[in-house]
Amino acid sequence: METKIVDFSKTSLHEIYGENCFNDAIMRELLPKAVYKELKEIQWGNKILTLEIAEIVASAMKTWAISKGATHFTHWFQPLNDLTAEKHDAFINPTEDGRVILEFSGKELIKGESDASSFPSGGLRATFEARGYTAWDTTSPAFLMEDNSGVTLNIPTAFFSYTGEALDKKGPLLKSMDVIDKASIRLLRALGNTTSRKVFATVGAEQEYFLVDRKYYDTRSDLVLCKRTLFGAMPGKGQELDSHYYGNIRLRVADFMRELNCELWKMGIPAKTQHNEAAPNQFEIAPVFSKVNVATDQNQLTMLILRQVAKRHGLAVLLYEKPFQGVNGSGKHNNWSLMTDDGINLFDPGDDPKSNTQFLLFLTAVVKACDKYAEIIRASASNPGNDHRLGAAEAPPAIISVFLGDELEEILNKLSRHEDIASAKMDYIQFGVNSLPVVRRDSTDRNRTSPMAFTGNKFEFRMVGSSQSIANPNTVLNTVVADILNEFAAIIEDSDNKSEAVLKLITDTYKEHKRVIFNGNGYSDEWVAEAARRGLPNISNNVDAIATIISEKNVSVFEKMKVLSRQELEARYNIYLQGYSRQIKMEATVMLQMCHKDILPAAFKYSKILASTINEVRKTGLECPLAMEENMVTDIMDNIDRLARTGTELECTLQKVHELTDSFQKACAYRDDVVPLMKTLRKYADIIENNVGREYWPYATYEDLLFKI
Ligand code: ADP
Ligand code: MG
Repeated sequence: METKIVDFSKTSLHEIYGENCFNDAIMRELLPKAVYKELKEIQWGNKILTLEIAEIVASAMKTWAISKGATHFTHWFQPLNDLTAEKHDAFINPTEDGRVILEFSGKELIKGESDASSFPSGGLRATFEARGYTAWDTTSPAFLMEDNSGVTLNIPTAFFSYTGEALDKKGPLLKSMDVIDKASIRLLRALGNTTSRKVFATVGAEQEYFLVDRKYYDTRSDLVLCKRTLFGAMPGKGQELDSHYYGNIRLRVADFMRELNCELWKMGIPAKTQHNEAAPNQFEIAPVFSKVNVATDQNQLTMLILRQVAKRHGLAVLLYEKPFQGVNGSGKHNNWSLMTDDGINLFDPGDDPKSNTQFLLFLTAVVKACDKYAEIIRASASNPGNDHRLGAAEAPPAIISVFLGDELEEILNKLSRHEDIASAKMDYIQFGVNSLPVVRRDSTDRNRTSPMAFTGNKFEFRMVGSSQSIANPNTVLNTVVADILNEFAAIIEDSDNKSEAVLKLITDTYKEHKRVIFNGNGYSDEWVAEAARRGLPNISNNVDAIATIISEKNVSVFEKMKVLSRQELEARYNIYLQGYSRQIKMEATVMLQMCHKDILPAAFKYSKILASTINEVRKTGLECPLAMEENMVTDIMDNIDRLARTGTELECTLQKVHELTDSFQKACAYRDDVVPLMKTLRKYADIIENNVGREYWPYATYEDLLFKI
């Protein structure tokens, strides 16, 4: 396949940036001034979208898209499986005289109808009532997707059922944005801010991934089907030397990244940073942050484009959380902040003591939310793949804690003990009249082991898995933080002495919730023990995480904030449990197939060679000891035996688990009975791999996958 590298000495970056994106600039250019203004009001939630406006926007979109070669349009949506979905319609409308006109109506822009029965609904929609609707998200720009032979106009939408329940991740995200906006503005008003009109949750998602050579990838059914290796002995060199991190980017990868950036820039995705990651053949790409719904769409697109571009370069991209055992997995650092329309970052400590009160209040609100709603935040970063990553000695632990850094913690400590703040690290802090300190912008160190690290002016939620959509983690963050902001606002609104009330709120909240603050090494065993002493939840696996979705506390906050109803949460609970069971079942089945079709035959073939070599040597009558050679055969045969026995046990267990009907019990059985057997099976297969000659092994090895590009 041909690559599409742009020569920037001939084409300017300005020219291609956003060329496939129906962005604000294009709208301003193509729409009548009044319509553009009206659309802005609609995007701000001040006005309702009318069909009249939609007609005009649709017409402009159509003209723009067709001028760039589009023949089709699609409502692009994000069902409950971390992927994106689309159903294409051509612009054509046949005329009586046998020709066509190209049409795209306001109705088609606003609403799509889609067969919902093929997407997970968790029982929300019976299959006989399979209608689902998609509705245009006016706040995220439409874009053009190019494939090898054509162009399609994509319209970002939310997807819901005939009865109005969300069947996707986008709808609830949009609701949560509204909720955090209103709660933040309410608190800002209570604090005396009369100028900010809107607050946006902003996100920059750093995306980690692996690249492997496609010719090696294609040899392995586990990678092709399950997106991770289910077998694989470690090569002599692992990531011990960490020489890869921030290392020189190899030429082939540099070519790939160049094209990737171009493709992203064309879509108006501000890809900014790229580097080698900790593991061999592991990389990261990060965009400049944007509003969270746009960041979510852009991250979904980034994952899609990563795959496409990799393919053109003879590479395969692995987005799975833990594609290789014994090697660091991949995450998605979700940098989250709150920004007002007039440019205030609510987590920016700033230089002005007055705004510092505000900063400390918003900061402690997040601390409280992380303590009070730790389980659902943890659950939002959970999927089957992340079970291999969280809590291993690489990614954040499965325990939610917040890193603030020593300096901020000292300030909060001193404030809460009514101590003279002046004695807190003088050289770092200037003090204002209200005895509240000015905190330097870079007041926090880096802590790479914390799941929720305050990094100067934003929170970095580092638990999220690399293949996950960031929609749900941010829906949860927005919702639970909004709940606390509302609580704070109510207290301040009711108080006679506002500045006293604010100070008391900061210190009380800090004292009550400081157990969730941890600045030390989150990877250490000591922290796990310490967290248990503090009573912090440690949810080690996807099934237990899913269970928390329907706990009373969580249902109640989502219902109160009107982001998700009990019914919608129960549907999600069912879908995710089913997703877990399906994933484990698929992995176990693929493992068994690989054993029977490839691994055992290879082991037999190689032991036969060994055995006949021994026989041949014996026949010569030469005096050779042959004891080691016999041991080699015995070793392989022993492990073949163990592998085959474990395989049989796994097969029987799968059959039994399959018959369970309760979805929670079933998922537990996959976790408790199937997963351990998969681990045992792998252990024997990996021993065999180490004992079988390279040319007899049916798959590309870890060495091929991790060190050869
Ligand atoms: P790191 O050292 O973790 O790689 P960076 O400074 O490169 O951190 O930033 C990581 C991400 O955080 C980028 O995507 C960046 O755009 C994003 N980011 C920066 N400021 C904000 C903010 N106010 N809100 C949301 N994301 C932000
Ligand atoms: Mg980071």
